Amino acid sequence: MKPPPFRYQRAETLDQALLLLSAEGEAAKLLAGGQSLMPLLNFRLLRPAVLIDINHVAGLAGISETERGLRIGAMARHAMIAEAAPIMRRFPLIAAAMEDVGHPAIRYRGTIGGSLAQADPAAEWPLLAVLLDARIETRSPRGEGGYEAASFFRSALTTALAADEIITGVEFPYLAPGSGWGFAELSRRHGDFALAAVAVTLAREEGRARGVRIAMLGGGDTPRRAGAAEAALEGEAPDAARLAAAIAALRAAADPHGDLHASASYRRELLGVLAGRAITDAWRRAGGQA
Ligand SMILES: Cc1cc2nc3c(=O)[nH]c(=O)nc-3n(C[C@H](O)[C@H](O)[C@H](O)COP(=O)(O)OP(=O)(O)OC[C@H]3O[C@@H](n4cnc5c(N)ncnc54)[C@H](O)[C@@H]3O)c2cc1C
Repeated sequence: MKPPPFRYQRAETLDQALLLLSAEGEAAKLLAGGQSLMPLLNFRLLRPAVLIDINHVAGLAGISETERGLRIGAMARHAMIAEAAPIMRRFPLIAAAMEDVGHPAIRYRGTIGGSLAQADPAAEWPLLAVLLDARIETRSPRGEGGYEAASFFRSALTTALAADEIITGVEFPYLAPGSGWGFAELSRRHGDFALAAVAVTLAREEGRARGVRIAMLGGGDTPRRAGAAEAALEGEAPDAARLAAAIAALRAAADPHGDLHASASYRRELLGVLAGRAITDAWRRAGGQA
């Protein structure tokens, strides 16, 4: 398989990339890690006239701790993020989720910005962004902009990004100290895209869960928070009855689709099982257990 013909433009700066993108309009695609874009070209599902390579733009790949949160540059690679000390310290959940993104070769090329822009409904980054209330930062010819993750993903493979907009970074607000996390995913083979996944963060105060966040993928066209499941646990000790209530609420909020890999009813059932595991792990970790 080989891609259809395209022109290749290498941007050296962000301004140059923005200029090229504005000039070429819908005919252009940004090239980041190429791990989603190149297969789409090879399968002839996309035929952009121009690829604008942003791999050589300086300053787009850093990871830094700001006052509000952890900022990850759009061109940071999945593997590099998973190994970064601030991630291990602040967001071990992210490091754990990255282990389920494809294979090592994909993780060493693929970028957080590319994954968010691609908005694959089975991808881990969109799930993490929605769970953690991330802010997606952008630049366009109109200046700096951004989106809350909750309103960024519009449907499968579709985001709120304008055609002339580039993701520059993502900020993940810090969690409350001592928060626990859980991440549970199932795919048919290791490295495949997920059939479903659930991610959870919560704090534990005097034996009760606080600040509960639960998000799922595989429960619709975009990752989504399970608000009713969060409410079922908030301020409660997640005993068996509460856990069952949260799982039932999550299943009720899911709107999974069936495909070659799994039926809708299987995905709904699976989501509940994964939610039970992720909540239990988050509660255990919030209690200070490894
Ligand atoms: C075999 C295989 C298995 C995979 N398994 C998984 C998996 O399990 N989980 C998972 O999450 N992913 C998986 N992936 C996808 C992988 O994570 C990709 O790296 C990711 O989806 C896209 O990132 P990229 O940097 O490669 O982007 P690219 O492929 O270069 O670009 C993807 C899209 O995003 C746009 N884009 C890129 N960067 C920006 C930017 N900064 N601003 C605006 N638009 C931008 C491009 O124009 C393009 O439309 C898999 C890929 C393969 C080939």
